[in-house]
Amino acid sequence: MNLEEVKKLYTPIQTTKTLTTEEYKEKYVNLEVTLKACRECPNYSQNWACPEFNYNPLEKWDKYANIELIYTKIKYTPKAINTTYNMEEIGFIIENTLFLERNKLIPQLEEKEKQLNGELLSAGYCGYCEKCARIEKEKCKYPDKCHNSIESIGGLAIDTIEGEFNEEMKWIDMENGKLPENLSLLMAILY
Ligand code: SF4
Repeated sequence: MNLEEVKKLYTPIQTTKTLTTEEYKEKYVNLEVTLKACRECPNYSQNWACPEFNYNPLEKWDKYANIELIYTKIKYTPKAINTTYNMEEIGFIIENTLFLERNKLIPQLEEKEKQLNGELLSAGYCGYCEKCARIEKEKCKYPDKCHNSIESIGGLAIDTIEGEFNEEMKWIDMENGKLPENLSLLMAILY
């Protein structure tokens, strides 16, 4: 399988929605729940975009009036859904569909972040450097490239996707080598 083949396996569909931060906080912020999940992740305290933080992450929500949610549905083709893949192939597909779309969006949203004087919330850990400096207990090398995820500061991404975009979350069936109909990517700008 190569990159050209993977490109034909999906379509990204983007939808945006803006809420006041107050409404978002009331409906979808629960730091206790997200921290519990973060503590079970290998990146916990190993990446500067991830908890544990030396500040209260909940304060970020109060700094801004609005949140623009950017939801990307990675819709796989019937051919992709009906094919059985091995672990390596699934890893390659995820890297070049879900993560590729995230990495394409980051510079676009960084521009918007600047225009709005806001703060970009990405998805997952910060992957800007090959190895995060935090692993060696060093300072972040590129602070302007380090973006917290929605979850890292308490946002319930799955509930947001279901509640605001009316989308049901779907997962990869690793055991049987099957892709779901779609995967979901949620990013945001606080401003
Ligand atoms: S920019 Fe580099 S050092 Fe900073 S959080 Fe991202 S990966 Fe870590």
